[in-house]
Amino acid sequence: MSSRKKVAIGKITIGGGESIAIQSMLSKRNDDFDGNIRQAVELQKEGCDIIRVAIPDFNTVKLIEKIKENVSMPVVADVHFDYRLAIESVAAGADKIRINPGNIGDPDRVKAVAKACETKGIPIRVGVNSGSLEKNILAKYGGVTAEGLVESARQTVNALERFDFDNIVLAIKSSDVKNMIKACRMISEIIPYPLHLGVTESGTGSMGEIKSAIGIGGLLVDGIGDTIRVSLSDEPVFEVRAAKNILKAVGLCGGVEVISCPTCGRTRIDVIKLAKEIEDKTKDIRVSKKVKVAIMGCAVNGPGEAREADIGIAGGEGEGLLFKKGDIIRKIPENMIADELLKEIKTITNVTEK
Ligand code: SF4
Repeated sequence: MSSRKKVAIGKITIGGGESIAIQSMLSKRNDDFDGNIRQAVELQKEGCDIIRVAIPDFNTVKLIEKIKENVSMPVVADVHFDYRLAIESVAAGADKIRINPGNIGDPDRVKAVAKACETKGIPIRVGVNSGSLEKNILAKYGGVTAEGLVESARQTVNALERFDFDNIVLAIKSSDVKNMIKACRMISEIIPYPLHLGVTESGTGSMGEIKSAIGIGGLLVDGIGDTIRVSLSDEPVFEVRAAKNILKAVGLCGGVEVISCPTCGRTRIDVIKLAKEIEDKTKDIRVSKKVKVAIMGCAVNGPGEAREADIGIAGGEGEGLLFKKGDIIRKIPENMIADELLKEIKTITNVTEK
C-alpha cells in the first residue's frame, strides 16, 4: 500500500493507503451537455470513482455544475492553455483541476490557478505525457526516456511548489509501457504526492487493455499508484471495466474472481461456457472482499484449485463436484452447475457484506 500524502478529491481520498480510485474521462463533444451527463451517469453506475471532463472554452465550464447535479462522484476539470478556464472551473465547483503548467504560460498565471485552488482546498493534478515532453528535455535525452519524463515531472511539480502549493496529484504517462513503468518507479522514490497511473494512448480494445494491465498492474503490485485510468480508444465504460479487472487481478479490490482451467483432452464439462456465464453474471457484484470461484475441468488440478477457492467445481463425466473452502459438498448434474454456483456465490457474497 502507498504511504503517499493523502489528497482529497471531493468525497474521494487517495494516497496514504486509501483504496485505488478508478478514473475515466467523458468523451462526448464538449457542447453536447446531455450526452456528457448521460455518459457520466453510466460511468458512475459502472463503478467509476472520479470523472474528468475537458473544458476547452468558457461555455463548457457550465457543464461542471450540470454533471455534479447528476452524479455524486468528484469532477475533474481538464484545462489547457487558458488559466482563466481553470479559475472559472474552480468557481463552478470542480473537485480537482488538471493543468499542464508548461502550457499555462507566465508563472503568475500558474500562481493564480494555485491560489484559486488553495482557497477552495481543491487539488491540482499535474503531469507529463510522452507526447508533449519539452524540446530541451527531448534534446538532452535524445528522445522520450524515463529519465526525461522524470525530469519534466520534477519541473512540473516545482512550478506549483514554488508558490507553496502542495495539494498535488502527479501523473507520468507514456504510450511506451516500459518507459511508463520505469519513470513511475523513479518518481515515486523522490516525491511524496499521490500518483495517477496510466498508459496513455494505449490503443483500442484488447491491446490497450493488455498494455494498461502490464503498466498499471505491474506498478500496483509494487505498491506504486493511488488512482488509475485505462485510456482506450473506445467508449469510456470499457475503461472502467478494464480498470476494475486490473484491480481485481492484483488483489486490490473485492468482487468475484473466476479462476478457470484452459481445458484439455480430459475435460468432460463445458468449462468455457460455464466460466463465461459465471463471469458475466457476477461482474457487477460489489463486495469488499475477493470471492474466488474455481471452475476446473477435471480432477487433476480441479480439487486443488477448487480447495484454494471460496467455492469451486471440479468436472467429472456429465457432472461437477462442488467444493466450498476445500470441502466436497455434493455432486451436481452438468446442466445445473451454473445455477447452483450462482446460488452459492450469492450466499457467500451476502455473508461477506455482513
Ligand atoms: S484442470 Fe483438468 S481438464 Fe482442466 S486443463 Fe487441467 S487437466 Fe485439463
